[in-house]
Amino acid sequence: HAKNSGRNTLRFFDPAMQAALDRRATLESELRQALKGRQFRLHYQPQVDIERRLIGVEALLRWQHPQRGMVSPNDFIPLAEETGLILPIGLWVLETACELLKHWQGNARTRGVQVAVNVSARQFRQLDFAAQVQRVLETSGANPALLKLELTESLVLEDVENTIAKMHAIKALGVQFSMDDFGTGYSSLSYLARLPLDQLKIDQSFVRNLPGRKNDETITRTIITMGQGLAMEVIAEGVETEAQCVFLEELGCRVYQGYLFSRPLPAEALDAFIAGS
Ligand code: C2E
Ligand code: MG
Ligand code: MG
Ligand code: MG
Repeated sequence: HAKNSGRNTLRFFDPAMQAALDRRATLESELRQALKGRQFRLHYQPQVDIERRLIGVEALLRWQHPQRGMVSPNDFIPLAEETGLILPIGLWVLETACELLKHWQGNARTRGVQVAVNVSARQFRQLDFAAQVQRVLETSGANPALLKLELTESLVLEDVENTIAKMHAIKALGVQFSMDDFGTGYSSLSYLARLPLDQLKIDQSFVRNLPGRKNDETITRTIITMGQGLAMEVIAEGVETEAQCVFLEELGCRVYQGYLFSRPLPAEALDAFIAGS
């Protein structure tokens, strides 16, 4: 009927929309090639304590595209999630991060440094996700206590009961949890207190406006107080200036990550950062 054919006509004849669909199809097939072709890389961004000592890194995915160069995760993770490609990609990230952990355990300078891995909703929802984590830990020989999984509020809120149960199963392996981009979602205090979280990560959208923007100062102060009350470590992400760092420290935040200390680095460059720290 008229409505349907109207929509089909629009889709078929709108060149801009057709171009977008073509780009998407190209990206999807390139993404499939990328895993086989070993085009993914992990960069690692240092996390430091109040003395600026390295205490952890966050593993951040990069796609070394043969023509387009380094592609940002924001440009391909949404499609990887939609297509399910995030499952093998996410497993590769976990394996690679655990291999780094195992490697670091053999070195006095890096022993004890944690690795944080971002976990997507689709990945976490897999029925055997806890078993996957266990298998990767066993295969790699990495110390589970040094692995931290970063979840987002939206992931948790999709299915709170199920999430809590799965988090407990994974925590039983010795693994830690961090709540990424904290403050940007809609999680309520009552949920938060029930989640077995080890860390809250203050989102960079708040950190960016410190000090000076009163609302963001208030949100930041509240998150830090909340973390302290719930015995969770609080880390600030996106710390770019000394002024931000000093302000966060005055509020009681003890762990920082951001360009002020280092950009995300390939593993080789990270060795140099560690040697110099
Ligand atoms: P995220 O987990 O919140 O990671 C922090 C992002 O902020 C990273 O962007 C990092 O490079 C950037 N960043 C760090 N310090 C600063 C700073 O001082 N200033 C500014 N402006 N930005 C800073 P990146 O690497 O582009 O990653 C973007 C997002 O992609 C991540 O946000 C995460 O949600 C997602 N992502 C990255 N790697 C993975 C992965 O392996 N799996 C999944 N599922 N998602 C990933
Ligand atoms: Mg993260
Ligand atoms: Mg974040
Ligand atoms: Mg973020």
